[in-house]
Amino acid sequence: MNITFWGAARQVTGSMHMLTLDNGYTVLVDCGLDYENRDDFEVNNRNFPFLPEDIDLVILTHAHIDHSGNLPNLIRQGYSGQILCSEATIELTRNLLIDSLNVQMIESDKKSRTRKSGKKKMKHVRLSAKHQSATLYNRSHIDKATDAMISLAYYKPFEVNEHLTVELFEAGHILGAASVKISVKEGGKIKTIGFTGDLGNYNSKLVKDPVPMTGLDYLVTESTYGGRLHSENTNAEAILLEYITNTCVKFRGKLVIPAFSVGRTQAVIFSFNQLYVKGLLPDVKIFTDSPLAIRTTRLYAQHIENLNDEARDFYSKHGNLFSFPGLYSMEDPGDSQMISLLPEPAVIISAAGMVEGGRIQEHVRHNISDPYSTILIAGFCAEGTLGHELLQGKPTVKINKRDRQVYAKVSRTDAFSAHPDQNGLIRYFEAVNYKKLKKIFLVHGDYTSMQALKEKVGLKTIEMPEEDSVYEL
Ligand SMILES: [Zn+2]
Repeated sequence: MNITFWGAARQVTGSMHMLTLDNGYTVLVDCGLDYENRDDFEVNNRNFPFLPEDIDLVILTHAHIDHSGNLPNLIRQGYSGQILCSEATIELTRNLLIDSLNVQMIESDKKSRTRKSGKKKMKHVRLSAKHQSATLYNRSHIDKATDAMISLAYYKPFEVNEHLTVELFEAGHILGAASVKISVKEGGKIKTIGFTGDLGNYNSKLVKDPVPMTGLDYLVTESTYGGRLHSENTNAEAILLEYITNTCVKFRGKLVIPAFSVGRTQAVIFSFNQLYVKGLLPDVKIFTDSPLAIRTTRLYAQHIENLNDEARDFYSKHGNLFSFPGLYSMEDPGDSQMISLLPEPAVIISAAGMVEGGRIQEHVRHNISDPYSTILIAGFCAEGTLGHELLQGKPTVKINKRDRQVYAKVSRTDAFSAHPDQNGLIRYFEAVNYKKLKKIFLVHGDYTSMQALKEKVGLKTIEMPEEDSVYEL
């Protein structure tokens, strides 16, 4: 058998790894969108470096679009098999794919309008045939992808055929996330390879700790924060209380929290709810402003059984995780504009987490020059994104092609991180008996993070595969 690393190789997005058995059977683990460089989005994602019809099976680790986002395109180009994943991943992925298609249509619309009429502003996006052809796939391909998804339970090995068995382990990270152990029977021997997918941080809000896979020969592991240690202060409630008090109560400013719609937003809302039931939450309006986040929050509420002890205990005592007086969910774009103009202090939680596009960019634009407001970055911001620029402490940033003075306070917290840091990754490696593994492949991290992790672990069995590279297992 061999493994080919088609994506997330020395970068964070575009996860896509292929196992090819000696008998030719081919398994694809994840099929994500590569959005490392926006200008190359089309080139990086439109075509596959293999024939989709040649793939026999797809396994999806979790719903995030850098792992799932190109599945409808795989189907559009001829894949006709099953997609194995956890039950919650099916519903979450559907929402994320629809959102991703909307984003693609908006981008395509912007481009065509820029070409046609220079500076004309886009007001409406309609699902037209023209727009659909400009996107990687259309709604019918999302429906087909969802129909192809088969849910597997965690820790129940599924025998795909006499040569191949698949088992899912809880990965933490977000609702439904799984690590995948694949056992392959070839030449009278069984070889096992584990794909971590994205791992969760230990002691995260809402999700359980990652559960290490057992009995592995090979490991393909994420390394997002391989070169970084999270700060010591990760008490989410205490951090949010400090920021809401200092920004909204003392200075009557706005606390703007850029947060990913899936996972991060729910953790932030739950933490505010915990403050509320303890009687500690100040009387300040809190808005969640992302339709995808609102839909995702409903799914989290429907899958309480998959959440951690803290969340389930809270639910049994209080009956809900994500609802308390003073919390408002904004679905209508008109309401979204109204929040930033409110003449009173408020907390605004909106997407996307890296402050690239979406409603959050407007909230940041409205508040960035207000010295009484705070922008609290709660997650990973890739280089080249507005979130990254803000964290660099630049006095001026460009939003909508105009320079904006940064007078608002810009802060960062690790309390909601959805990935383990270097110590967390090594803790995971120890639990999978990493010194006995034949090879450890680092993926889903930039080169410097991987290099730092490799040096720290200090094993010759660690590989940092380049894109398109093939290894015999
Ligand atoms: Zn992820």
